[in-house]
Amino acid sequence: MKRHETKQVRVGNLTIGGGAPIRVQSMTNTDTADIEATTNQIAELTKSGSELVRITVDRKEAAKAVPYIKERLDALGVNVPLIGDFHYIGHTLLQEFPDTAQALDKYRINPGNVGYRAKRSDQFSRIIDIAMQYDKPVRIGVNWGSLDQELLTQLMDENAKAPAPLETQNVLHEAIVQSALLNAELAQKMGMGADKIVLSAKVSKVQDLLAVYKMLAARYNHALHLGLTEAGMGIKGTVSSTAGLAIILQQGIGDTIRVSLTPEPGEPRTTEVQIAQEILQSLDLRHFTPQVIACPGCGRTTSTVFQELARDISDHIREQMPQWRSKFPGVEQLDIAVMGCIVNGPGESKQADIGISLPGTGETPAAPVFIDGKKAMTLRGERIADEFKTVLAGYIEDRFGS
Ligand code: SF4
Repeated sequence: MKRHETKQVRVGNLTIGGGAPIRVQSMTNTDTADIEATTNQIAELTKSGSELVRITVDRKEAAKAVPYIKERLDALGVNVPLIGDFHYIGHTLLQEFPDTAQALDKYRINPGNVGYRAKRSDQFSRIIDIAMQYDKPVRIGVNWGSLDQELLTQLMDENAKAPAPLETQNVLHEAIVQSALLNAELAQKMGMGADKIVLSAKVSKVQDLLAVYKMLAARYNHALHLGLTEAGMGIKGTVSSTAGLAIILQQGIGDTIRVSLTPEPGEPRTTEVQIAQEILQSLDLRHFTPQVIACPGCGRTTSTVFQELARDISDHIREQMPQWRSKFPGVEQLDIAVMGCIVNGPGESKQADIGISLPGTGETPAAPVFIDGKKAMTLRGERIADEFKTVLAGYIEDRFGS
């Protein structure tokens, strides 16, 4: 698949766009003024694989906390680029707190609420000035929940007078795209390089997402941050985000992604990182963890052994990955099959790097294990699951250990 060519943007120790791997990012939901809670959540998000983390900087207390959060993260050895999310008063906060302007690696500006009427370009320009002073990139992030109403009204009026007016939805798309591009042009006129600008245009419906990102990619080559905003909770949020992001990514569009999932009560914030990784991994765009291929089960197996083993292996991998990443380079490319019966079990296990075909109902209670396409052994008895985990650990050590 050919990727849409974009300018590369350096954000802290990382690059976005210009052929760099598609980056996974996330956003905290702690009060940024709570230094400890925010530091801990950034550390958790980073540990789970978030490559950039955005934090809200909404008031003086939050702005004041940022350098301390950065300091604590440094002390913990967490070296992740931090993005400040600014709305309404970003220009004054960045001016008043120079240590914060310095500590952040990128500023997110929402052109829909950076100021109104005459103040808009002045306040936007002040943030751009500060970004250039500290040599920081920005994301010009349009969100249709806070779209520039003056621009929308102007385009609606023009459309109404046009000989063949467009559908209202098309004018909305145009307003979203123009809001991003006009502000990017303004920043560039002030002297900011295109290699310092990331664009996003977030909407909450999949068809709108597809339309606006295709328009953005067709018109300019700024690096693109991709995400469906207000995706929702649980299955709905996961499926909507996946549907939208996967289609656009498959067209080669998107340099960094965020899954805006509303967490269920008690659900860790890291779920959004896991989903973003799974989307990229399913599309074969990046690999983060070994892939566990498990059959869905059916009437040929009434035992839950294979479901439990598949879950155990998946949990085990996720827990181990932070260490494995450095200890066993390349392990994320591994395919592991955990199958429920003889119908597809041996075939799927042979295709994987390592696989086990558990016995279905009425089959001989034996589980052949396949390694690199060949039957390596047969496990029997009550301890099949534990023995397979031991075999898997040995395989990883042999193949990926130094
Ligand atoms: S491998 Fe066997 S148990 Fe699993 S879905 Fe296929 S037929 Fe059913």
